[in-house]
Formats: sequence, C-alpha cells, structure tokens
Amino acid sequence: MMKESILEFSFNELKDGLVKNGFKAFRAYQLMGWIYKKFVFDFSKMTDISNREREILAERYSIISLEQIDYVMDAETVKFLFKTSDGNYIESVIIFAPSERDKDERVTLCVSTQIGCALKCDFCATGQLEFKRNLTVSEILSQVLLAEEFLKSRFATRGNSTRNIGNIVFMGMGEPLLNVDNVLKAIYILTFSGGYNIGARHITISTVGIIEGIERLANIPLQVRLAVSLHSPFQHKREKLIPIARKYKLEDLIGALENYQRSTKRRITFEYILIDDFNVSDEEAIELSGLLKNLEYNLNLIEYNPVKNRYYRSPSEDKIKLFTHRLKDLNIPFVIRRRKGEGVFAGCGQLGLYWKNTSFQ
Ligand code: SF4
Repeated sequence: MMKESILEFSFNELKDGLVKNGFKAFRAYQLMGWIYKKFVFDFSKMTDISNREREILAERYSIISLEQIDYVMDAETVKFLFKTSDGNYIESVIIFAPSERDKDERVTLCVSTQIGCALKCDFCATGQLEFKRNLTVSEILSQVLLAEEFLKSRFATRGNSTRNIGNIVFMGMGEPLLNVDNVLKAIYILTFSGGYNIGARHITISTVGIIEGIERLANIPLQVRLAVSLHSPFQHKREKLIPIARKYKLEDLIGALENYQRSTKRRITFEYILIDDFNVSDEEAIELSGLLKNLEYNLNLIEYNPVKNRYYRSPSEDKIKLFTHRLKDLNIPFVIRRRKGEGVFAGCGQLGLYWKNTSFQ
C-alpha cells in the first residue's frame, strides 16, 4: 500500500494525528522543523525523535512525493524536471534576480499546480500538454522543499534564515485557481511560523482570470499577492490567446478584481506578454488606461518566450519603446520583465515542453 505523505498535513492536523497515535504533541513541532527548516526528508535522520517513533513514522508516512529526474542550470535559472508517483512529469524553475533593495540576489521559485493544463492558452507551452490532474498538496510542497534542498547543497543560506527562496510564484504548469483547495492549503502550510515561515506577501498566485477563484481569494485572511494574465484589454483578442476568457468575460473579470481590491486593499499585478503586431499599439495603451482606471495595479510587460509550434513573436526594441512611452503618457504604472534564462526556456506560464521530446516523455 502507498504510504501517505506527511506533507499533506497542516501543523494542527499533524499534531492531532500524532497525539491520537500516542505521540507527544511537541513531536509535530519537531517534524515541522526537520522538514521545513532543515530540509531533512528521512525520518531516520531526525535525531531528537526516539528510534522507535522514527520507525513508526517511516512505516506510516512518506515525506517527499516527487522524484527529481533532471535539472538544467544557467547563471539566472535552475529548471527542474520532477516525476510524480503515477509516472507524470512536471517542472519548476528557480529564478535568480539581483535585488536593488536587498543589495543581494532575490531567489524566486516558480511552482506548478497541475499536470498539463486544460485551458490551452494559445501562447503557452503547458497548454500544448494534455491535462492529467491537479497536483496534490504534497506534490506542490515537494517542489519547494526539493528546490530548497538543491540550493542548500550548493549555496550558503542567507542571514538568519534557513530558507534560500525569498518568493514563491504559482505561475508554473497549470491554472492555480482551478486547484485552489490544494494551492491554498499548501500556502497555509508554507506560511506556518514553526515551519517554512515564508510571509504570504512573498507568495503570488497567477491566474488567467478564474472569477470564482478570485472571489475565494478576496475572502481569505492570507495576504498573498494576485497576478492576472491580461495580455490584451480587448475581449476578442483575449479570447484568441486565452480561450477560457469566453466564459470569464473581461468586464466581469474587472468587476471581480474591483471587488477583490475593495475587500483586500491589495494591489494587483497584471501580466502582459508583449506580442508583435498584436497587443503593443496605441489603441491597446489607451484601452488599458480606461479598463484599469478603478484599480491599483502594476502592469508587468513580459517579453514573449518563443514556444515551439506557435507563430507569435516578441516586438522589436523600437516597438516596445513606443508602447512604453505611450503607457508613460497615460500614467500606467509598468515594469518590463526581460526574459530570464532563455537557455533553459524558463518563462513562467510557458513551462512544459523543454523535456517533451526527450526520453522522459
Ligand atoms: S497560461 Fe496558464 S492557464 Fe493558460 S494554458 Fe498555460 S498554464 Fe494553463
């Protein structure tokens, strides 16, 4: 019989389960510390737990739910290929970026939430893969823990923190708000102060605009950040890129975001992939300024990461300059995100094909 991963449990669930089975409650703190602070994934190495209890834990539970199959690394990114226990593959990416504020490197992990994606966005590599299923809580958390273990084995940790990863973005394979229960539970576990202890403000959920999910986020106490893939202020163009936009119309989406902002007071990030001859005209800039006028937001302009079998291109530097001048004139707050690590094809939201034609799939 397959053992259940202990990562499926929140701290309280773990404590209650252990107490029911005759363990002392403080064992739950010890386990959270070993797994989420020290990144030790073998019960037999948890030396402050008695030998007998370590044996019982190992008989009942597993810890990590993924197997690391491969990774590719360049100066800016590390891209991992993980295998699930039912033989599927997912990817996660570590992105290193210099941080002005910290005078240090910011380390961000881009996490997957589904195997493949059913939404089939036209610009996206993941959308070309068959949707298999949602990732479990333990599969989501395993990506974070294995990335930390990788970093720990190569780099010293920062300051007093046991973590190397400063930010987590749910922008990998899959639509996080279609796996919202598992994503939120994973976030609750990651923010637990006796464990991984990352601030919710350092976690971003990125969606193509699943309105029910946005409404859910509006009503939870977690201060997670929300990023919305906009890509065009025009309904017909959005539908071309994001087929599910036919169901979640732009005006309803903006209405849901206005409600979200009223209740959370949090600024929203809009992702906007720059596509040549498609969404970088004056018309787009003017429409954007009207569409977003009631929101506090940042617009992230992202250079398009070419995806095999897709005909979109990134605009020339001159066209990008013209577009951004127009945005400035219209007082639209934006930043340009340059492609990170093209060598490992690490564009968030565009994961999924790097290993596709290798012996792994
Ligand atoms: S962009 Fe996101 S929602 Fe769209 S197909 Fe890709 S992974 Fe799915």
